[in-house]
Amino acid sequence: MRTRFVNGTQVDCTGERPCGIVTEAGLISVDTLSPCDVTVDLNGCVLMPALVDMHCHLRDPGWPQKETLETGLRAAAAGGFGTVCAMANTSPVMDNAAAVVSNVRRAESLELCRLIQAAAAGRELKDAEPTDYAELSSVTPVVSNDGQTIFSDTFMERLLAASERHGFMVSTHCMPEAEIISRDITLSKRVGGRLHVGHISLAESARLIRDAKRQGVNITCEVMPHHLFGWDDAYRVNPPMRTRKDALALIDAIRDGTVDCLATDHAPHTEEDKANGAAGISNFDHALAMLWQVFRENKISLSTLSRLASKNPARLLGQNCGALERGMRADLIVFDPDARWEIRRDAMLSRSHNTPFEGRQVCGRVIKTFIGGKLVYDNGAFV
Ligand SMILES: [Zn+2]
Repeated sequence: MRTRFVNGTQVDCTGERPCGIVTEAGLISVDTLSPCDVTVDLNGCVLMPALVDMHCHLRDPGWPQKETLETGLRAAAAGGFGTVCAMANTSPVMDNAAAVVSNVRRAESLELCRLIQAAAAGRELKDAEPTDYAELSSVTPVVSNDGQTIFSDTFMERLLAASERHGFMVSTHCMPEAEIISRDITLSKRVGGRLHVGHISLAESARLIRDAKRQGVNITCEVMPHHLFGWDDAYRVNPPMRTRKDALALIDAIRDGTVDCLATDHAPHTEEDKANGAAGISNFDHALAMLWQVFRENKISLSTLSRLASKNPARLLGQNCGALERGMRADLIVFDPDARWEIRRDAMLSRSHNTPFEGRQVCGRVIKTFIGGKLVYDNGAFV
């Protein structure tokens, strides 16, 4: 089936122009001239690549009361994500290839957005006994003990060396943040590897990573919407909410290319868990609107947002998507960048509604989500 998108603007990392996209057999078509079976009227909205989330938690297997693959991937698809990478701190922990493959297959059968399942770096997420990196690298591009800091220098050094050898990415969880980032940069200079720093939140972290990049270290990093959208808030997240000064430093780091990716750290919990002090925030439903609100206020373009939320994470995860290039997977969203709305917990699709941003005004709404050229979400309903 050939689908043509008309009457709107197309935006990706290369900029914006009048829309001339045709999709065919799940891909963005090279042939834009032949007749199409379906025409999608954008009604003046924007056609963009779907977002690629480098970092989320789906709690499956383990805690269906918080989230399942199905509820999480529905919220993600409605939020404009085409691919999400789920961290390994499930129960049981994702520390073997069979578990990783099983989750990916289950996600495929749901026909929502795509799942990349990260694997644990250590058994039981501990920095003691390493998992089988050779085996895991054949089923996932990401190895991470996210949720737990790797304190052992020896463990981290071996992990980085293995990532160099097997070609996977090491996504880190750094607490205390600047201290561990600094240690990892030193190790990376020694043994190489593919270091990706998860959820940076401090001005100091951005400074360390900027300096490391200038010195030629193979390092990438990500920022979460809540660290840009909120500050001086006691709401429990890991890393915690920081100051306005930190948020502004992260925005500078987005502007100068220090920050590679925008990810969600979507981390659902029940009301009861939150009341008992669990750290985490549910972000899939409104991550894009929070980000676009911040980008607009700071006069950063939608094209830059697309580079950081789609193109860069897709490239780092080895996915053939994230831009409106011919031959790429047709994971697309129709986005209304001018729609103003209010975050409301009771309107969230994630099973958990944990956010401190109830009532906050945001900008930009996902109207439709296409995965592999197929419409999966349409204006509030799943197809
Ligand atoms: Zn996380």
